[in-house]
Amino acid sequence: MTGAFEVREYDARGRLGELAVPRRGLTVETPALLPVVNPHVQTVPPARLADFGAEILITNGYILHGSEDLREPALERGIHDLLGFDGAVMTDSGSFQLAEYGDIDVTTPEILRFQRDIGSDIGTPVDIPTPPDADLERARREWGTTRERLDRAAGVETGQMLVTAPVQGSTYPELRQRAGREAAETGLDVFPVGAVVPLLNEYRFADVVEVVVAAKRGLGEAVPVHLFGAGHPMMFALAVAMGCDLFDSAAYALYARDDRYLSVRGTEHLADLSVFPCSCPVCTEHTPADLRAGEEERRHRLLAEHNLHVSFGEIRRIRQALGRGNLLELVETRARAHPAMLDGYRRLLAEAEWLEGTDPVSKGAFFYLSAESASRPEVHRHHQRLTRLDPTGSVVLTDGEAAGDGDFEERWRVRPPFGPVPPALSDAYPLTAELPGQRDRQAIAAAAEGVQRLVEANPDVAFTLRHRDWSQSALAVVPERVTTEDTSR
Ligand SMILES: [Zn+2]
Repeated sequence: MTGAFEVREYDARGRLGELAVPRRGLTVETPALLPVVNPHVQTVPPARLADFGAEILITNGYILHGSEDLREPALERGIHDLLGFDGAVMTDSGSFQLAEYGDIDVTTPEILRFQRDIGSDIGTPVDIPTPPDADLERARREWGTTRERLDRAAGVETGQMLVTAPVQGSTYPELRQRAGREAAETGLDVFPVGAVVPLLNEYRFADVVEVVVAAKRGLGEAVPVHLFGAGHPMMFALAVAMGCDLFDSAAYALYARDDRYLSVRGTEHLADLSVFPCSCPVCTEHTPADLRAGEEERRHRLLAEHNLHVSFGEIRRIRQALGRGNLLELVETRARAHPAMLDGYRRLLAEAEWLEGTDPVSKGAFFYLSAESASRPEVHRHHQRLTRLDPTGSVVLTDGEAAGDGDFEERWRVRPPFGPVPPALSDAYPLTAELPGQRDRQAIAAAAEGVQRLVEANPDVAFTLRHRDWSQSALAVVPERVTTEDTSR
């Protein structure tokens, strides 16, 4: 069953969309966060999750299948009634247990039929999560096995239940891309990028970006993508900018049970907090000292509630940024939380050409917030555009206010990081960008590259560049035939 996913709006590769869940007769707004519910240990009762903003949750079909206490009630009452949750329910298959313990005792058709029989809305086959840095031979072999299971899954009678097709391939971008393409070809419904948890745990965000971008290239734009195991709100914006639509958070409960407090800037330990830097109901009604003094179960529940508030708050903020076209500015802000996040953001910007493929031509405003802004897809797009413009005769390119003297047929401004701005486009996005008064090296370097593009595309035009104190390394990019004048001298 395909066609259940619709994208309303893009920003970079991020999308605002809707996932139709036919079995439940409802539609989930994406990006969406799925709290993970452990059938045996419920830190926050599932019936209350909708209060935090959950439209969909995920629980473990494999645990239910093997549980003496819960298996029969799940089959008799159905999973929604058992958990007391009215929204959509996705179920996992035991692949995580397979990765942790090396062996599980169900086949893909068995576990899919069980998930169907308990009323799951989105079911999962048993894939093989190949860990990062596995050897290539193993990664290929295990993907081959997963792929066979996906083909088998596509043949199981699952009714209206959507079925996932996980994308594996360890840390090999080419294999991830192929796996993405082959997963999409199965015609299944939802596409988790699997086995990234070890990378997330080690803060290897640049590797996460590499793996996800490769999977996305293979999957294409038509399908919903789930970043499996990505539950820390610090990295939601980055993951959305790469085109991930669904996230699951076990972190809200696992961290709480370890007395850890999530924020969009990282993780704090309750013992280290003297105040709660948050305005959610938990943090306004309690103090860290109050929680530390209370009993354990209450403390864990309240911490989990805060963790949920913070996680869903970030999802709403991301949706708003997507609608306004400033998602990359949010990513840029989040990238300041940790050097490893900055690595991830820089790795993403190295894919500016790919990001630009779905980035809207016009948005609200472009804020230049750091040197990384010079590598944004909007700058890349303007540079591409410069190769298609055809000024005539003699052109002066002026970095700064006055064009100065001289007899020129055309007078263009230069705006770092974009470079030359044709007069007709000076009021168009992104050339209306808000820029800091003090320019950085990356902005000037990008502007010089823009000059180079324009000059090389127009060999018959005479160019003069009036710049303000550009460095030798920036000027080295400007073709030699351009007359340069430093107006700051
Ligand atoms: Zn809070």
